Amino acid sequence: MTDNENNPMSKKTPDNTHFRKDTFHLSSVRIYPEYISKINGEANKNTFSVMNHEQFGYCIIANIHFQAGQKIAQLPRLKIFTEPDLHTVQSGSNQHIYDPWFAGLISHSCRPNIYFEQSELAFYAVEPIAPGNIITQDYEQTEDILFREFDCCCGHFECRGKIRGKKFSN
Ligand SMILES: [Zn+2]
Repeated sequence: MTDNENNPMSKKTPDNTHFRKDTFHLSSVRIYPEYISKINGEANKNTFSVMNHEQFGYCIIANIHFQAGQKIAQLPRLKIFTEPDLHTVQSGSNQHIYDPWFAGLISHSCRPNIYFEQSELAFYAVEPIAPGNIITQDYEQTEDILFREFDCCCGHFECRGKIRGKKFSN
């Protein structure tokens, strides 16, 4: 962001590319694109940051405090696939919500700090969450069979190791 008083560039005709970019940052707190109808309680840039970690890939970081038991995000109306995908969250049998903006970027942990309430299509905190905390869910809480199984490195003493889906755990 530039200071208009002191920036000689501001005397010139605004560059359209920069103007659009600035407008976007000032006006939109949405994580979801505009073609998805906005709903109350959806994840936004005030509540969460989307980070691309060089080792672990995309993850969601809390920007604010959440209390244990608090609803942290309600999913808006999104496409539902019949098969899992890399960025889907299972909401029922043959129902996989496609959310490459938020839910599909949440990291797995065998001891997660949120869970997905399938009947409400909402995420709830299971413990207090502080700004800067990585949001984690247990993929085997929702997914019957993972789109892509992986070796978990969450570090918890009860880590299940290979994460493949609900159908394979226990
Ligand atoms: Zn684990």
